[in-house]
Amino acid sequence: MKFVKVAIARPLRKTFTYKNLLPNENIVGKRVFIEFHRKKIVGVVVQMCSNVDEEFEIKQIISVLDETPLFESNFLKKIKDISQKFFFPMGELLSLFTPNLMRKPKHSDELQKYKIDDTKFEITNNFLKKLTDEQKLAVKNIQNSKKQEHLIFGVTSSGKTEVYKHLIYDEFKKNNSAIILVPEIFLAPKIYEEFKESFGENVFLYHSNLTELQRYKIWLNCQKKSPKIIVGTRSALFLMPKNTNIIVFDEEHDQSFKQQDKLRYDAKSLAKELYQNSKIIYSSATPSFKLLQKVKDKEIDVSKLFKRIGETPTPDIFIESINKTKLVGGISETLINKINLNHKAGNQTLILINRRGYAPVYLCNSCGWIAKSNCCESSLVYHREEKRLKCHRCQSSWGLPENCPECNKNDFEVKGVGTQQVELNLKHTFPNIDILRIDSDSVSGKLRRESTLEKIEDKNPKILIGTQLLAKGHDFQKISLIIILNLDFGLFGADVHLQEQTIQLLIQAAGRAGRSGIKSEVILQSRISHHPLFKKVKSGSYELISQDILSEREKLNLFPFTKLIYLKAEDSNLKKINEFLVRAKEKLSKKNVEVYGPFEGPVSKVGYKYRMFCIIQSNNDKDLHNSASGLINALDKEKRTISNWVLDVDPINVT
Ligand SMILES: [Zn+2]
Ligand SMILES: [Zn+2]
Repeated sequence: MKFVKVAIARPLRKTFTYKNLLPNENIVGKRVFIEFHRKKIVGVVVQMCSNVDEEFEIKQIISVLDETPLFESNFLKKIKDISQKFFFPMGELLSLFTPNLMRKPKHSDELQKYKIDDTKFEITNNFLKKLTDEQKLAVKNIQNSKKQEHLIFGVTSSGKTEVYKHLIYDEFKKNNSAIILVPEIFLAPKIYEEFKESFGENVFLYHSNLTELQRYKIWLNCQKKSPKIIVGTRSALFLMPKNTNIIVFDEEHDQSFKQQDKLRYDAKSLAKELYQNSKIIYSSATPSFKLLQKVKDKEIDVSKLFKRIGETPTPDIFIESINKTKLVGGISETLINKINLNHKAGNQTLILINRRGYAPVYLCNSCGWIAKSNCCESSLVYHREEKRLKCHRCQSSWGLPENCPECNKNDFEVKGVGTQQVELNLKHTFPNIDILRIDSDSVSGKLRRESTLEKIEDKNPKILIGTQLLAKGHDFQKISLIIILNLDFGLFGADVHLQEQTIQLLIQAAGRAGRSGIKSEVILQSRISHHPLFKKVKSGSYELISQDILSEREKLNLFPFTKLIYLKAEDSNLKKINEFLVRAKEKLSKKNVEVYGPFEGPVSKVGYKYRMFCIIQSNNDKDLHNSASGLINALDKEKRTISNWVLDVDPINVT
């Protein structure tokens, strides 16, 4: 046919018409080199057509880059459905499935040299450990379940990985592949090594820190039929290995499975659509509320692993009221004494504080001026080590002012506590104890990350101070005291997503204690220690806490009982955003749908641009989708008045 429609990797919700270079050939699914707005770029042909009704002159394709189609037409149809379901521009979505190298105008011939042999490696089952009764039941349940999705709700140290291994081994025997997704790059190598030990050369590690060529080679390998295991971060989902029959989301509750910029996809929702014939296994000690509700509604099956393997007693949880208490570097005197005793007993202490830097507020004592960024309008965090003020939203950094810009005096002070301050105070109090701080400032760079990991692993008595980074999947050997500072805001604030994430952080942190058989304590400092929620928190049971909160939310018809889409908008002009959102709100169909806003979020400005949002919610999925897609159709016809807007499906925050 004479013309083709090309999808390109831009945030544009339409395809573009070009003249077919080879009018007698079907080139659907092949990459083409085209000129687009005076730039030469690579696109993918998604449709052929014999005539078009475009008014302007139609350009011809420069060249066709592939011999055989990169995407089959069935796959393209699926991508089209997904792009409509989640409001993604098709070209942008498609580009996720092609490694970077393929987005350059390289002819497929040039890339053939990296072709690999389709060898099948033999494996035996003698590496598989004997399962406990709980684990056996989980394997059986998953294999016999008729449902696509399955939750492994397993407390820390309950042996979830062993369950994946058995499941994957059984699939391997049938020549099927598996994908194991982990939330963080630095958690990936550990699980990769573990699987490599068992499954040898059939295991591949995939994440964004690999070179383009490394990623391309793994992608090529995934085109082959031989069974394989991919261990990686969320982007590994787009490798689409042939015959994938199992996908595991390890630490399912983690926010990093959702991409937070550009295409705001949720890897979990996407996996379900992309791998319709595959079992999807979510695994966590603290499953997301959304999944727990699906379990309750019998939409998905669940296996519970509530027994810790080995001699690992469950820690006791205490709440420490700090209402009228004087704090030293954020910690009460009672707790300082506890740290001392714990150290004398030869054990480690972990202190969790979810704020890096020295102090979150830097102010002038004489006039009350507070250091704020004009990039994001947030108060700047004082970093004492570098003697700088930093914006934690856009990572910009500023020198300390010599004099106050308002009153010209030099009389500054700080308020609030961050990791650096806790570290400094404890070093002062305990000059002879090893103290290790772990936050994104202290572990930036590969070398520092590795040396930190080494120090974490040695069993010498010490104090570890860190942000949520610390609570993620590390195996601490000798921690018997965990102290958690300032989680009040997250637990009791109005943000439903933040509340869920805070509880998960708390239980995950508690799970780090007592792994080597010592009885341990978790102590939570709070100013609202009488709050009824703490009664459940003390039980340490995520199941009880989540049931409590979920029944509360059900009464109020809050997420996850109501479905949400956030309409998020940003621009350097606040008035324009507001006008845009008010207009958008009018255009939304209100059939079974409620719309709230426009609101300014807790983060109202990022990188010199203001942000606002509207909440679109409904108890009916279909009506919600129709309302949002109606809005897109209407807005796509209009001239753009603000720099960016997006519909965030499966949102996890309002920024
Ligand atoms: Zn001043
Ligand atoms: Zn900023």
